[in-house]
Amino acid sequence: MKTLAKYSIGLGDRFGHQGSAQLKAIIAASEKGIDITPVWNKSNREHITIGTQPLDVRIEADSVTKGAGFKKPYFVDADHINIDTVDRFIECSDFFTIDVASYIGKKADEKDILEFLSGAEKYNGGLKIAGTKLSFESSISQIKHIAEKYLFAAIKARDIYRKIEKAKGNGNFITEVSIDEVVQPQTPVELFFILKMLASENIPVQTIAPKFSGRFNKGVDYVGDPLLFAKEFESDLLVIDYAAKEFGLPENLKMSIHSGSDKFSLYSHIGSIIKKYNKGIHLKTAGTTWLEEVIGLAESGGKGLDFVKEIYIKSLEKIEELCAPYADVININVSSLPSKQEISEWNSDKFSDSLKHNPGSSDYNPNMRQLIHVAYKLAALQMKDYFRLLETNEQIVSKCVYENIYNRHICRLFDLK
Ligand SMILES: [Zn+2]
Repeated sequence: MKTLAKYSIGLGDRFGHQGSAQLKAIIAASEKGIDITPVWNKSNREHITIGTQPLDVRIEADSVTKGAGFKKPYFVDADHINIDTVDRFIECSDFFTIDVASYIGKKADEKDILEFLSGAEKYNGGLKIAGTKLSFESSISQIKHIAEKYLFAAIKARDIYRKIEKAKGNGNFITEVSIDEVVQPQTPVELFFILKMLASENIPVQTIAPKFSGRFNKGVDYVGDPLLFAKEFESDLLVIDYAAKEFGLPENLKMSIHSGSDKFSLYSHIGSIIKKYNKGIHLKTAGTTWLEEVIGLAESGGKGLDFVKEIYIKSLEKIEELCAPYADVININVSSLPSKQEISEWNSDKFSDSLKHNPGSSDYNPNMRQLIHVAYKLAALQMKDYFRLLETNEQIVSKCVYENIYNRHICRLFDLK
């Protein structure tokens, strides 16, 4: 049975050039005593936008791990797949993020709901998790309400899981279920019963990605109250731990945080809570490696700087088209974006400092950063030129990628100095 270790990080690499630099960050962490399983994730949307195939991610992961003599487990994640998009991922992936968010709120058949309720009767009245301060009330009508909201999604997750299992065989892949791409966060009580549903459908889920309060915009810090997040995170973690035992789910079941990367104000909370309970985490980062490529090219100056300036100018022209698919996960204040005229005067430092996520820097511009984050399609349109520049400036670019994953993410999450 393939099992995911205690700590794992999802690494997005849109253009498939930075696997080695990302792996270097994982190796650096293990030298500090933190063993992290690397998981290369790429969603169907990213593949379509760039014109790559799921197999490309497999080839990258296999070749960089082999090149580095990396003998520990690693995975290739078919990120946010559903019943319609999973097919071309099946052969080359060994980690599947089954996304059933779009089914939430659709009602399952009455008989399925009644069957679920009869198995949940013992929780009528509520639950107190021994040894913790977590308890909740749950009347049968509340449980019914939860079943009406989530059972259909759990049944869909089963259908997708069975399709993958039929092709790959039981135990040959990691299963994640994601319900994060919705407006309303799930409460701990809801999460508890969702896990019961997944267990009843015999889905050996190893990671679950709930939705939390606040905004998780791509590539920038969390927008919301970090203390409220910490409270939710702790409750969810206790629920997951209890539910795994109670429902016979895999004992390594853990939380997957789809952070959209760079949630620096949350990392210390996550780190201290998982430490307190000795629990694991899967941190799924978005494709901000692409941003590091842009920063690296800007720092390289010359043609690299010219290329990324051109990308930015085009992104201003196509802003609506680029932002539309990401409307729920970005928040750009257009009036704070530098104009074409302004950036034409900029040198390497000014351009890269505007994009680099150093919240303390006066040049840092989160609006520009988010716009470039969604502008990767423009580089895909000039792939040959782009790849040539990445290769010419490999050293400086890979240093940016490494430092981003290691210093800004891993060190903050695991409190490494
Ligand atoms: Zn997600």
